[in-house]
Amino acid sequence: MHELSLVAAVCDEALRVLAREGASRVLSIRLLLGVLSCADRDALALCFPLAVRDTPLEGARLEVEAEPLLLHCNECGSDSKSWDALLVCAVCQSGAVEVRGGRDLVIASMEVQ
Ligand SMILES: [Zn+2]
Repeated sequence: MHELSLVAAVCDEALRVLAREGASRVLSIRLLLGVLSCADRDALALCFPLAVRDTPLEGARLEVEAEPLLLHCNECGSDSKSWDALLVCAVCQSGAVEVRGGRDLVIASMEVQ
């Protein structure tokens, strides 16, 4: 399952943060789910408890927040957001856009103890 590998990658990252902070467990973790990551929020919620079993992340509260696509237009210079995976400037409809966000599943914040 696609989501399971995404969650596993996020957990690795969270464990690295935990080690760096010298904390022993994670109370909650907030993720930003980019429109282009193609992951399903419900599937993530299902995978999370499996991925964190027997790790310091076990029992952590998971919050998933959707992140729109952030586009920068090279034609007219506008920045726009999009909730569908359409790579077109919302202002001038140009396809000459750069994706600046909304691509991945990333950790927005973590509460550790
Ligand atoms: Zn534009």
